[in-house]
Amino acid sequence: MKLSLYNSLTRKKQEFKPIKPAAVGLYTCGPTVYNYAHIGNLRTYIFEDILKRVLIYNGYAVRHVMNITDVGHLTGDRDMGEDKMEAGAAREGKSAWDIADLYTRSFKKDIKHLNILVPDVWVKATDTIPEQIALVRILEEKGYTYRTADGVYFDTSKFKDYNKLSHQDLEALKEGARVERNPEKRNPTDFALWKFSPQGSKRQMEWDSPWGVGFPGWHLECSAMSMKFLGEQLDIHCGGTDHIDVHHTNEIAQSEAATGKPFFNFWMHGAFLIIQGGKKMAKSEGNFLTLENAFLENDTNPLVYRFASFLTHYRKPMEYSDESMEAARNGLLHLQNQVRQVAAAGVVAGQDINAEFKCKFTEALNDDLNMPRAMATVQEMLKSTISDTQKYGTILDFDRVLGLRLDQLDQAQALPEAVQKLVAARQQARQDKDFATSDQLRAEIEALGYQVQDTKDGMAVVKK
Ligand code: AMP
Ligand code: ZN
Repeated sequence: MKLSLYNSLTRKKQEFKPIKPAAVGLYTCGPTVYNYAHIGNLRTYIFEDILKRVLIYNGYAVRHVMNITDVGHLTGDRDMGEDKMEAGAAREGKSAWDIADLYTRSFKKDIKHLNILVPDVWVKATDTIPEQIALVRILEEKGYTYRTADGVYFDTSKFKDYNKLSHQDLEALKEGARVERNPEKRNPTDFALWKFSPQGSKRQMEWDSPWGVGFPGWHLECSAMSMKFLGEQLDIHCGGTDHIDVHHTNEIAQSEAATGKPFFNFWMHGAFLIIQGGKKMAKSEGNFLTLENAFLENDTNPLVYRFASFLTHYRKPMEYSDESMEAARNGLLHLQNQVRQVAAAGVVAGQDINAEFKCKFTEALNDDLNMPRAMATVQEMLKSTISDTQKYGTILDFDRVLGLRLDQLDQAQALPEAVQKLVAARQQARQDKDFATSDQLRAEIEALGYQVQDTKDGMAVVKK
């Protein structure tokens, strides 16, 4: 079946075809490890995980590379401000290397909690300094660079189509840049390839280079690492929408200037997690929550967050609120109960899959990862008249994409038959709008030690 993905480069949904049939090259911009990842960042990683799982579900092999930004990302994306790593180290009284190690480990734990498939290659920016220097040398030889007092810069006016991804108005940017503090930059969009360590001070992370001691610019790492592990022409590159205007635009400019070839065929971007009032969740806004404090500390299964992210299309802002998470919690509990009920059929995954529902589910996924529609198909399938054996086989097949660990549900938590009967009777009463009976049955279920929550898909019943 045709797989259509929205490509930020062409601003259209396009049929995806890999460059090399053997494997899809997927590169996802990884975390800057100066602090914990917040659940906004994690929304982007869940979207990328769905993309990867959908590619696999469509029969492609995927080679996935993710970087760890442990140097070079300044507090301002346009090369102004402090290095986030050195600032994090000063904040915590630790070395920049220790900070990197601590938050890399924490990030890896987060993605495990969210059942995000681990990349084939993890690579730290600090492990590819020679490759990054080599890339700057090529750009220098080709005449794309110039030096200022604080570093080596890429001259964006020399790269045709600089704004092909961002479509930003470069003239307006020039106007806006008058207040910018670096008067040596030839164009406001020019960016640092290599920055010098400040004179008279030693940075914790610095390296020798043909231009002087310093550190690489942030964008450089992703170009050097993706080309090192995937080749010069690649399939899909992802990140959050905030990366379009600067980070990814600059990656394209320096990579294509160096190789003379198109860099990635597809660029895909996930929309923000916002909080009530429409504000983006961001560390700089001080309004962020981690997986630990929003879920783990409250004994809430972090897969609730994964489930929640399926309810909004990845290109639309997703709102975080207590109510939206409560709805997701109930939705997941309900789904788990539905699966437990059909699991008694005891099939092995892959044995009995309903072709019609599989087709419908795949159609939703292949329409630019339409997860809300895919989740509606999940409910339609579970409420249909196909056999429990097929329902179980089919949901386990779907779970290759959903990643909700539906094959690992604790059957001990399955509802006893007496409770199941009361639940079925209450469902009927609700359908008949017989609320007095429904309330009576709720009380009976609760008396047996179960909690009842009503959701839009039905009832979630869990042990108290
Ligand atoms: P960083 O660690 O800052 O480099 O960001 C890691 C990823 O999270 C990037 O792909 C960002 O685009 C993405 N991101 C940052 N803030 C949000 C947010 N509020 N919602 C969704 N993704 C975000
Ligand atoms: Zn990147």
